[in-house]
Amino acid sequence: MRILILGPQGSGKGTQANLLAAVYRIPHVATGDILREAAARGSELGRRVEPILDRGDLVPDDLMIDLIRERLEREDGFVLDGFPRTLPQAEALDATLDDIGKPLDAVILLEVSDDVATRRLQARAAEEGRADDSPEAIRNRLRLYHELTEAVVARYRSDSVLVAVDGEGSVEEVADQIEGALIRIGVRSR
Ligand code: ADP
Repeated sequence: MRILILGPQGSGKGTQANLLAAVYRIPHVATGDILREAAARGSELGRRVEPILDRGDLVPDDLMIDLIRERLEREDGFVLDGFPRTLPQAEALDATLDDIGKPLDAVILLEVSDDVATRRLQARAAEEGRADDSPEAIRNRLRLYHELTEAVVARYRSDSVLVAVDGEGSVEEVADQIEGALIRIGVRSR
């Protein structure tokens, strides 16, 4: 099973991706986690991206594209979270999956308003203290989502494998809706 999960910061992508990874026994490939781990290890990649992460800016496309291509080549199934965030990244993903003959089975879009997203991110900031959960970085990340990532959503919207789900319910409600949507598009049976 190959799933792409899209949605703004605070939409619950990471939480739902983790649940899907457990249900389908596939790796949760989350670019934010990969980059934060690299920063924590202090690898060359990590040192390069740490200031970018802290500001809530985007890591350059070429770097992300190489990283994700190398990773997806090694996996049969996956739930991809955090990539693509720009149109060049989306084009590169399509080309990579085409090259390696591993098309996406489903694209899930979690929809939440900016108000709900901001409130959830502020609550998480209080709990986890992520460097990019400062008010300025939160604003920057949501701005970049609207400016760059919405075009990625539009690109996949025309694709029959995209299902949009209301992300404002509880974790269980959203998970149920995703399951229903996967049944509807025929990638999961009852
Ligand atoms: P969020 O979606 O809440 O911003 P993530 O954990 O997905 O959190 O990403 C954290 C940070 O990692 C982003 O703000 C950005 O700096 C970087 N990042 C993750 N994925 C990408 C990507 N596909 N392209 C560019 N930068 C990325």
